[in-house]
Amino acid sequence: MKIGEFQLIDWVRSQAAGQPPGELVELGIGDDCAVVKPAPDGQKWLVTTDMLLDGRHFELADGRHNATEVGRKAMGVNLSDIAAMAGTPVAAFVSVALPRQNHEAIARELTIGLKEMADAFDVSLAGGDTNVWDGPLVVNVAVFGVAALGGPVLRSGARPGDCICVSGPLGGSLPSGRHMRPVPQLQLARELKAALGEDLHAMIDLSDGLGGDLRHILNESGGLGAVLQAGAIPIHADVYQHHPDAADPLIALTHALGDGEDFELCCCVEKSAVGRLSGSWTVIGEIVAEPGFWLVDAAGRRRLWEKSGFDHLGHVSKDNENN
Ligand code: ADP
Ligand code: MG
Repeated sequence: MKIGEFQLIDWVRSQAAGQPPGELVELGIGDDCAVVKPAPDGQKWLVTTDMLLDGRHFELADGRHNATEVGRKAMGVNLSDIAAMAGTPVAAFVSVALPRQNHEAIARELTIGLKEMADAFDVSLAGGDTNVWDGPLVVNVAVFGVAALGGPVLRSGARPGDCICVSGPLGGSLPSGRHMRPVPQLQLARELKAALGEDLHAMIDLSDGLGGDLRHILNESGGLGAVLQAGAIPIHADVYQHHPDAADPLIALTHALGDGEDFELCCCVEKSAVGRLSGSWTVIGEIVAEPGFWLVDAAGRRRLWEKSGFDHLGHVSKDNENN
């Protein structure tokens, strides 16, 4: 490592110095490892990590996005995973491969974006790794968080009869640029867990699109099915604004279910507990025992929905490879 890189880490460290005093982080940037304390009240630690690549998850080299936006997204998508378990994020670790050209400016801008999101959600920047190379920008963030009292909310807990709910409108995130500004639904998820307790059976954050992510819940819960009311699925205004073909309601729905990178939450809730949901949640359907994924149209017809949309549409939604 060159002297410049040490100075860079010193600068990152100075940025982290003013951060909220995370009581659970005993030692942050500066030693070989960070030191974290046991989670309080016998709770478990949650650990998640997500890597973002230039040219795939953002466009830095071609000038479409700046490094501050990349930093916000890199932190935001990880915090969204903690939200999906109804946890509370505590500490973030950032590993970067910086493109040689302009690496110092990129590192500073990136750190500003990372810190902005970390500060907004009381997360301390507690460590990382810094490298410079001849390739494009690669950013990996790992976040440690504490599970909710009562335990983490898993994908695997859905049961037949559960109501399926989403936290906000879906679709159009990529063409609108909204995918660069994920808003992790941490508060909403914690409030949901506090209100519902054991009646909150399963949850996931929507990164690949409801059409794909809900299938993870179905598969992890032992091979269940979902019946969604097409008219109940909230479609984001970005769908109509950025996809001219969305005047056709089936195409609009295909975008809502397939575009991905909405970072809203989808949860499965005991039916009798639905009255305890806050106004942020929309009930869109029900879990059934028969494996499959169906949409019910306004006329009450129930049709199988493939990951790429209705079979007969001949319309295949973009595979955005964002896992
Ligand atoms: P080592 O060579 O022992 O791994 P480093 O020189 O890589 O140590 O890192 C020194 C300290 O700076 C460590 O605490 C590490 O976690 C932290 N660090 C390095 N790069 C970053 C970064 N980009 N963001 C936050 N912390 C960093
Ligand atoms: Mg290191």
